[in-house]
Amino acid sequence: MAGAHVLMFPCPFQGHVQPMLKLAELLALHHLHVTFINTHSIHNRLTRYGDIQSLSASYPTLHFNTIADCYSFGNNTGSGDTTAGNIILSTTLHAKPLLRNILLAQSPEIPKVTCIIQDGILGSLSNDLASELGIPITIIHFRTSSPCCFWPYFWLPNLFKTNELPIRGDEDMDRIISNMPGMENLLRCRDLPSFCRPGAKGNLSIDWVSLQTQQSLAADALILNTFEELDRLVLSQIRLHFPKVYTLGPLHHHLNVRKAETNEANDNTSFRSSFFEVDRSCMAWLDAQAKGSVLYVSFGTSTIVTREELMEFWHGLVNSKRRFLWVMRPDLVVGRENDDRIPEELEEGTKERGFMVEWAPQEEVLAHKAIGGFLTHSGWNSTLESLVAGVPMICWPYFADQQVNSRFVSEVWKVGLDMKDVCDRDVVEKMVNDLMVHRRDEFLKSAQAMAMLANQSVSPGGSSHSSMQDLIHYIKSFVL
Ligand code: UDP
Repeated sequence: MAGAHVLMFPCPFQGHVQPMLKLAELLALHHLHVTFINTHSIHNRLTRYGDIQSLSASYPTLHFNTIADCYSFGNNTGSGDTTAGNIILSTTLHAKPLLRNILLAQSPEIPKVTCIIQDGILGSLSNDLASELGIPITIIHFRTSSPCCFWPYFWLPNLFKTNELPIRGDEDMDRIISNMPGMENLLRCRDLPSFCRPGAKGNLSIDWVSLQTQQSLAADALILNTFEELDRLVLSQIRLHFPKVYTLGPLHHHLNVRKAETNEANDNTSFRSSFFEVDRSCMAWLDAQAKGSVLYVSFGTSTIVTREELMEFWHGLVNSKRRFLWVMRPDLVVGRENDDRIPEELEEGTKERGFMVEWAPQEEVLAHKAIGGFLTHSGWNSTLESLVAGVPMICWPYFADQQVNSRFVSEVWKVGLDMKDVCDRDVVEKMVNDLMVHRRDEFLKSAQAMAMLANQSVSPGGSSHSSMQDLIHYIKSFVL
């Protein structure tokens, strides 16, 4: 059978699966055949906590397939991302046989695979397979991290050549990086991707990240979850090395807008691609709060904090006297199993002004009129969701691209404050009040302007909208 058939393969982390799933749905809305690969455990989670069945029922051209598990999701042992490198390596190994079968499959109903959209973090996987099988195939890398971090990842070898790296200990962290095109004198050492730090969290070495980023040069094109107006300077640098870049973001919003204007899907429902059980009780609580009065606090899917850090945040939030909705993931705090109580001195303030859930419907929360700010770990999806909702941020980055994202939030986009490398109750209290009260108008103005640009980009004639048309055209152009 003739036609375009895209094989999509994300790394099994929520922050990677989620935007790729949004793209899969957008492609299916354009009637492309898409086969989306997940690991068993991720697929089971999406079935249990999300509604992946209704997703496949709504799109006859969207198919799911699974590979064996290479790790047990949700076993956060307090070591943060220490298994990330192993997960990526073993995912690649487990995926190969299935991908090989799908690439060679012949079917009267489904066209042969003409294009692979692979998570860029999986390196040369698709190129290796294509050359092993000797088949012509278009290979596109989707980099799910922010472009403002992808660019430093790519530029790292040059920073070593100019002696701006390595970082020479704690006393070197405020040194300014001057030789990064498009970002001259913007980043301090502490704002570089976390893997550049001596003794960085996790087992992904700076050499590995750098090599794996260079491997995207072998792809035919690159997809980035951003919009031109947000990352113009960085994108112009990236394009000097990657001539074909599709900027389709913010993908979650892009999809919502497309679905709102099409009757192709059975309704405008936003399918949940959650890995955790969503607690919606916070929505009724938010309904009862005044406009812009609540700080939303969430550190994403894999950040962990010590008990001491937790206490600094908690005291700071309560002392700020602002209302807060806090996502307290069961595995957020190292060693929390033994101590689940609200500390006595914080009980009154927490009950009076706070609300806690284990997992929130974040997109909906950020869009709620009661939300006036977001204390975030600066994961790229969270950052984009906040930008789309026009919600100013306080950033407490944990690892990977988050260090760069938080710098851009405060110094480039000017939509919030960067609390990087500090965890102190007085600072938390002050920043919360600066964001929600003293500098509220200033931050709100730039956040709302950015939200408008994001919205325009995915509307007809907008940059991401046009980029999506170009991508569809590109994918279809390879069909014989
Ligand atoms: N998220 C959510 N509910 C929560 C916390 C997070 O739905 O209570 C979602 C959030 O909307 C975002 C994703 O989890 O889409 C986290 O992705 P991000 O890239 O921000 O962080 P990471 O996965 O790297 O921790």
